[in-house]
Amino acid sequence: MPDDSLHTVYIGVGSNVGKREENCRKAISSVAACRGCLLDCQSRLYETEPVGLSEQAWFINGVVRIRTSFQPKALLIQLQDIEQAMGRRPGGPRFGPRVLDLDILFFDDQIVQTTQLQIPHPRLHKRRFVLKPLCDISPELVHPALGQTMQSLLSNLENGGKKVILFQ
Ligand code: AMP
Repeated sequence: MPDDSLHTVYIGVGSNVGKREENCRKAISSVAACRGCLLDCQSRLYETEPVGLSEQAWFINGVVRIRTSFQPKALLIQLQDIEQAMGRRPGGPRFGPRVLDLDILFFDDQIVQTTQLQIPHPRLHKRRFVLKPLCDISPELVHPALGQTMQSLLSNLENGGKKVILFQ
């Protein structure tokens, strides 16, 4: 596989059910073990206050950067397989508790808008729990639709929002 056929992809990882840290670390290992994916780097993990549905446990969240030969839809299927293998079941409330959540945040600088897949992830620029770990690994990355760096998106978030605390 020639290196220039690889795409650079950022994936958000989260869990708030069961052994949250272990779930995130296992998921990262599973992504790294996918044929067609190379783990490039990973952020620190954060303990984060839930967004959208507050009556649930806090999450552990992080972000990884991979290089992959998959196209976006094929990568989504791989990630959904990993979610299911870790015990995630379809259904449940939107933004509700989950043993594992894997989101494609960026796929090169592609913009994808289908019913199944929106890239960049449509809410990432409003979420401290995504921007903070993204800034660990790529603060100068520019959002391809908004034209702002991760650092600038993070600085523009209002103070007093949902809490994001370094886990380790
Ligand atoms: P979630 O509950 O956050 O795991 O959302 C899962 C659904 O979001 C799936 O049905 C996906 O098709 C859809 N989806 C849309 N855009 C994305 C994305 N960028 N990454 C992951 N899932 C996505």
